Amino acid sequence: MTPASAPTVEHTADVVINGLGPVGLLATILLGRQGYRVHALDRWHTQYGRPRAVTFDHEIARVLAMIGIDPDNDPAIDFHDDHYYWLNGDGEILMEIDWLGKEDNGFRKRYWFSQPELEDRLRVIAQTLPNVTLHFGRDTVAFAQDEDGVTLDFRETVPGLRTVEYAEGGESGRIRARYAIGADGANSFLRESVGAEMTDLGFLFHWLIVDTKPEVMPSYRTHHFQVCDPVRPTTVVPGGPGRRRWEFMMLPDDDLQEMLTPQAAWKLLEPWDIRPDNASLERLALPRFEAKYLEKWHHGRTMLVGDAAHLMPPFAGEGMCAGLRDVVNLAWRLDLVLQGLADGNLLDAWSDERRDQAKWYIEFSVDLGKIICITDPAEAAARDARMLAEHAEQSKVGPLPAHETILGPGTWVAEDGTAGKTGIQGRVAHQGRTGRFDDAVGHGWFLLSIPEAAGDLDPGLAADLERVGGRQLTVGGPDSGAEVIDLDGTYSTWMSEHGALHLLMRPDFYVAFVAGDAAELTTRLDTILSGMIVRAAA
Ligand SMILES: Cc1cc2nc3c(=O)[nH]c(=O)nc-3n(C[C@H](O)[C@H](O)[C@H](O)COP(=O)(O)OP(=O)(O)OC[C@H]3O[C@@H](n4cnc5c(N)ncnc54)[C@H](O)[C@@H]3O)c2cc1C
Repeated sequence: MTPASAPTVEHTADVVINGLGPVGLLATILLGRQGYRVHALDRWHTQYGRPRAVTFDHEIARVLAMIGIDPDNDPAIDFHDDHYYWLNGDGEILMEIDWLGKEDNGFRKRYWFSQPELEDRLRVIAQTLPNVTLHFGRDTVAFAQDEDGVTLDFRETVPGLRTVEYAEGGESGRIRARYAIGADGANSFLRESVGAEMTDLGFLFHWLIVDTKPEVMPSYRTHHFQVCDPVRPTTVVPGGPGRRRWEFMMLPDDDLQEMLTPQAAWKLLEPWDIRPDNASLERLALPRFEAKYLEKWHHGRTMLVGDAAHLMPPFAGEGMCAGLRDVVNLAWRLDLVLQGLADGNLLDAWSDERRDQAKWYIEFSVDLGKIICITDPAEAAARDARMLAEHAEQSKVGPLPAHETILGPGTWVAEDGTAGKTGIQGRVAHQGRTGRFDDAVGHGWFLLSIPEAAGDLDPGLAADLERVGGRQLTVGGPDSGAEVIDLDGTYSTWMSEHGALHLLMRPDFYVAFVAGDAAELTTRLDTILSGMIVRAAA
């Protein structure tokens, strides 16, 4: 597509970000914090406020903590120490997933919030960054890329509407940038502009989403559960402090327009003892639950992220989480590319890593959907019989463990069983600061070595590590003389369990590799750095 004519304002930027949902906002914040000139825009003047994400996982908790939102103490976020239950129509347990307690990165397995509130928080953070310009009420109408950069044209929209109409005499502008990020959601304009098409896995159901504010929080058997009742599959979950969320599957005979009304919602809520006299309806929506993904996320100077690159039904509560992972992984790569240290190969590796992991989540969510979206009584009875037997067997050893995922092939050492997965985080002391590693030491590339093996690092590789903003730090117990004191023994225990003298952590909190001796450190670090930075030919 070619840019439209005669812009009335023009801007230049390092990165232009189309779409200021949670994913575009996080991308804006991360690149803005790195000092880049970011222009980001969204077609709506104020937040759309649709009822969507209500839960995020421990990995996202660590990301939010990095940008100053403390999930354990934030008034807009809460948690419930409880498992995740899948019940049949008779209330029997079909599946019990372990959502209790904390993961080994120091955060709880699950947190609960309201997406509009989180987006407000992200907006406030983005607005404080001096090199970031946010354009609200600006719709992208044309986009083109060439060898040197991208050109994006936008038009001002009429405020207060929920359809895109252009303001008469309103601003029309052009942003010229070195790179573009398409964070513009399921119907991404940038995705279409670069000619990318999603693969559709053929999963499609309509569900009614009902967000409520009960006067007194109802107490059910458990906090979060799915009711796999063929009469009306239903999701019952928290919606953040002071809120509860219901999701009702729409059936073939339902009139979707009629269902999207407060009257229909109250009727569905009645059996849950939620009524107009004890609760208020906050938001209603009737989205499609779909499963789609893009094969290639990096197109020239444009990267597609979030719902623009992947869509999944929300049964695992991972759609937004996947989008936030996209940009945490992208931000450090784009930093190196913008500095001229890395080339497009590093962005291709990003695309491969993220696509495979997002695909895993999509397939996992579809599998969960196949359990609950059953309306045929005979099929439901067969499912119940099978799952009740499986649950009886599983419960002899405890609930099902929460899922663990791995990145697609990319900037980590594939033959290392610890790599490509999220890393641990312990409490440490460092230069007078005590707390979680991220708070006491900071963020970035860290080669953590036990003090006795500090000298294993080749000076040439140490210099290259420094070029990408990384550094080596020794880690050990209080009497070890290490630079980072491992207060609870988290690192020493984990490293000795994995036979590691060295651990390379990435800025997105993933493990790049561990090494058990100097030779392994040299080989593995060289592999990682060679895949990242463009080195002068010898
Ligand atoms: C019912 C439901 C429940 C969910 N629950 C969870 C959950 O519990 N946990 C979880 O992790 N995920 C959940 N999700 C998924 C999550 O809400 C989405 O994955 C997430 O909102 C995607 O964020 P995004 O920033 O990629 O896209 P969006 O939030 O869609 O933002 C895209 C933005 O781009 C803007 N835009 C689009 N086109 C243009 C244009 N041409 N010009 C300018 N701006 C444009 C739009 O206005 C919009 O603001 C749920 C989804 C649904 C529907």
